[in-house]
Amino acid sequence: MDKKAILKKAKREKRALLTEVESKQLLEKAGINVVKTKLATSMKEAVALSKEIGFPVVLKIASPDVVHKSDAGGVKVGLKNGAQVSRAYKEIMTSVKQKHPKATVDGVSVQPMAKPGVEVIIGMFKDPQFGPVLMFGLGGILVEILKDVSFRIVPLARRDAREMIRDIKGYPVLEGYRGQEPANIPFLEEMLLKVSDFAERNPEIKELDLNPIFAYRDGAVAVDARIVLEEEAVK
Ligand code: ADP
Ligand code: MG
Repeated sequence: MDKKAILKKAKREKRALLTEVESKQLLEKAGINVVKTKLATSMKEAVALSKEIGFPVVLKIASPDVVHKSDAGGVKVGLKNGAQVSRAYKEIMTSVKQKHPKATVDGVSVQPMAKPGVEVIIGMFKDPQFGPVLMFGLGGILVEILKDVSFRIVPLARRDAREMIRDIKGYPVLEGYRGQEPANIPFLEEMLLKVSDFAERNPEIKELDLNPIFAYRDGAVAVDARIVLEEEAVK
């Protein structure tokens, strides 16, 4: 679906939260690297899509009412064959029905398992004073506790992108720490600039979260994405 169709559907359903699949579609069109993700509306389709994509795959609950997918038991990673996909599908549905009995469920998203990398996050929100602001930080549990993040106002200049990556305390982790693979910093700078551009061009977006992005020596890819639209855009 293109942007127009996605916005129209959200509007029809009076829904400000875009699904993971919709969010990734918009981001991919903007040249932001995301894991290819498809929607399966049945168990059979989930298995067929998994075979098409190639194992191992990840299955995630696809529902406009489930914001935190893993909290709802809605994420199954590292599925190696059709049988595992079928089982994961059932488990996800059972768990989500239990935790969100009223949720509308579209099905599941199917995507390839990305190889592990340094986890980073990019976010965008609107400050009442400054307007759209980008956030950058390291992903993972530790960072959720330490809140080691940096901010810059949109639109970002290349220099802002450079600085905001180097500003975080965990920067040495990106340079490769104790034998860990380093992250491609110029690629991340480029990603920040693209997200800034995307936010600027799409004022109907209220919030954006790429969490996590896996960063590698040779690039980076967002494995999860969440976009929230302005209320006025879906009225
Ligand atoms: P949510 O944030 O809604 O709970 P995510 O899509 O972020 O759900 O998935 C939860 C976790 O599963 C991620 O933080 C990541 O560690 C892992 N994960 C998700 N998608 C992939 C993927 N395509 N490849 C590898 N790991 C993934
Ligand atoms: Mg996430």
